[in-house]
Amino acid sequence: MPILALLPVLCLALVQAFWPDHAFYQAMPFPATAFTAMALVALIATLMRQTEWLYWLAILGGHYWATQNGLQRPLSEPDVAALHQLLPLTASLLMLALSALPKPGLPSIAGVLVLGLCFLLPASLVWLPLADWLAASGLPPALFERPVEGFFMSWAHLWWFSGLLFLWLGLISFRPQDPSVWGQFSTWLAILLFYAFMDRQQISGWATLAGSMALLITLAYRMLHLAYMDELTALPQRRALENRLRRLGRNSAVTMLDVDHFKSFNDTWGHDVGDQVLKLLGAILGRQRGMQAFRYGGEEFTLVFSHARKKAIRDALEAVRAEVEAYPLQLRQDDRPNDSEDGRRQRGSNDGTTETVNITISLGCALRQPGETPQTLLKRADEALYKAKNAGRNCVRIVS
Ligand code: GH3
Ligand code: MG
Ligand code: MG
Repeated sequence: MPILALLPVLCLALVQAFWPDHAFYQAMPFPATAFTAMALVALIATLMRQTEWLYWLAILGGHYWATQNGLQRPLSEPDVAALHQLLPLTASLLMLALSALPKPGLPSIAGVLVLGLCFLLPASLVWLPLADWLAASGLPPALFERPVEGFFMSWAHLWWFSGLLFLWLGLISFRPQDPSVWGQFSTWLAILLFYAFMDRQQISGWATLAGSMALLITLAYRMLHLAYMDELTALPQRRALENRLRRLGRNSAVTMLDVDHFKSFNDTWGHDVGDQVLKLLGAILGRQRGMQAFRYGGEEFTLVFSHARKKAIRDALEAVRAEVEAYPLQLRQDDRPNDSEDGRRQRGSNDGTTETVNITISLGCALRQPGETPQTLLKRADEALYKAKNAGRNCVRIVS
C-alpha cells in the first residue's frame, strides 16, 4: 500500500508532539544523514527515470537548505519570522503547480529549469528583505509577525495549512493506488513539519530524513508496480503469475480466459476501443472474490483458485462469464476506425449515435492432480479453453 509512505512523517509528528525532548534528536549527525538520504533518493529516481520524484526532492532540499541557512537565528527577528511564514507557502504552491501542470521530462532544458526553480525558489528567500516587503504589503501583521512556540505555532498556520491541504487534494484527481500521489503528499507534509516544530533545532533534519524515507518507500512501490503490474488492466501480469504458480498449493485450480472473436472486434472498433474492453475486463476480474486474476498476455487472463472444489469453481466462473456477457459496452459510431471499410460504411449512415455491444469470453479450467507441476496444469487449462472455444465459445469447460 503506497499510503504506508506516510508512516515516517506521521511517526515523526507523533514523537515531536509527545516526546519533544527525547535524547535521540541529539544523537544523529545532521545534516550529513539528511543529505545522504536525499542523494540516495536522487540516485534511485534517476536510475528508474522517475522524474517526478526528482522534482519533489528538489523542493524538499530547497526548503531544508533555507531552514539551515535562514532560520537558525531567533524567531523574534522580523526577517526570520517572515521567512518562517513564507516557506511553507512556497512548498504548497510548488506542490500545487507540479500536480496541476504537465511536468517536463529529464534530461531536457525545460526539465532542468523546473528542477532549478523547485530548489531555488525556497532557497533564495533567505536573501530577500521579506520583512520590509510584508510590512509594505498591507497584510494583517498577525499573519507573519508572531511565530508562537510549540505545536502548530498559531491558529493562522493551522488554518492556512488545512485550507491548502484541501485545495491540493481537490486539485489532483485523488488516486489512492498511485504511489506518486503519496510521494508528493508526504514530502509536502514533511516540509510542513519543519515549521510546525520550528522551536526544535533538529527537526528540519529529521523531517528531511522522514520525507526522503517516504520518497524511497513510494519509489520502491513504483518499482514493484512496474515489474509486476500490467498498466492497462491494473492486474498483476505474467511475472507475478509465475511467482504465484511457484507457491501453488496441492488443492488448487487454474483457469485460462480468452476474449471471443477479439480480433474482429479490434478490426471493427479499433485497437483503442479494444484496449478499453481489456481495461473493463481487468476491473471485473480484479473485483472477483475467491480467485486471483492475472493478465497472461494479449487478451488472455489467468485465474488462480486456492482450492479445487469443482462445483464452487464452476459457479464462480459461470458468474464471471455471465457478468461479462451482460455488460453493455456503449460505443459511439464515430469510435469506428477510419481505415476500416466496415467502419466507413457505418459512419456514413449513423454518425454520432451510440450502439451497445456485448463481448463474450471463454474459460477453461483444470483442477490440480496429485504431483502435477504448475506448467502441466497451465497447459491442461489451455486445453480446456480450447474445448470451450470448440464448443461454440461463451462457455466454461472444467477438466479434472
Ligand atoms: P477466438 O475467439 O478464437 O479467441 O478469436 P480471437 O480473434 O479473439 O483470437 P486471436 O487469439 O486470434 O486474437 C487475439 C487478438 O487479440 C489479436 C489482437 O488483435 C488482439 N489483442 C491482443 N492483445 C491486445 C491488446 O493489448 N489490445 C487490443 N486492443 N487487442 C489485443
Ligand atoms: Mg487469444
Ligand atoms: Mg480470443
